[in-house]
Amino acid sequence: MRQLIAGNWKMNGLGASLAEIESLRKALAEEGAQAEVLICPPAPLIARAAAIAGEDIAIGGQDCHAELSGAFTGDVSAEMLKDAGASYVIVGHSERRQYHGETDAMVAAKACAGWRAGLKSIICIGETETQRENGHALSVCTSQMQLCIPEGASPQTAAVAYEPVWAIGTGKTPASAQIVEVHTLIRDHLTARFGEAGRGIRILYGGSVKPSNAADILALTDVNGALVGGASLKAADFLPIIRAAAGAPPHSTLR
Ligand code: PEP
Repeated sequence: MRQLIAGNWKMNGLGASLAEIESLRKALAEEGAQAEVLICPPAPLIARAAAIAGEDIAIGGQDCHAELSGAFTGDVSAEMLKDAGASYVIVGHSERRQYHGETDAMVAAKACAGWRAGLKSIICIGETETQRENGHALSVCTSQMQLCIPEGASPQTAAVAYEPVWAIGTGKTPASAQIVEVHTLIRDHLTARFGEAGRGIRILYGGSVKPSNAADILALTDVNGALVGGASLKAADFLPIIRAAAGAPPHSTLR
């Protein structure tokens, strides 16, 4: 399965930041990317980003409203993202859950909205530090998968991102065995529910991925890519992560 390296710019970036996409595009055109590359800039930059991204970089949204249109001031529908040039949407990021009160049911509705619009939905799950310390990481992730991943998920419509909340933006990463444990749990869940389709759904790891740890993380069992925050903002940081994916063996070193 081709790995997906996705950059989440969060609420960072102005028009001048599009130069980073331009640099990335040029570098990938020269060296070729074995991984699929995605950048999710803030919504106002999506159309401009899509216009310059070229063939090697997909553009995505960081969130969408579940409804098609209507009186939802400030919100953006999946159809609007698609119309602006996006092909992916991130749903259920822990910052949306934490700061906007998003529930698992809302995340599932947003994932469906993405599919309705022809986008691939990256569905984020992950435990907090307290939940992990209390031994609840696996049960929390299982519950989130049951409630957030809608019926009918397939490799064409969905990817799952395991993002331990305590690893996001903190510089902390789980031990390899902890990542493998959760990714195996996710793969088992996907295949139990969706059969062969579940085997092909990408599972991304997210949380403090950077050039120095990307190769090790991307080589683990059932890590089919990465969701990258801070290190996706500069092409100089993001490129080595993309290259690390290209160099990762198809199967893991650890299970
Ligand atoms: C994220 O925002 O999804 C993320 C993983 O952030 P960071 O890479 O900065 O930890």
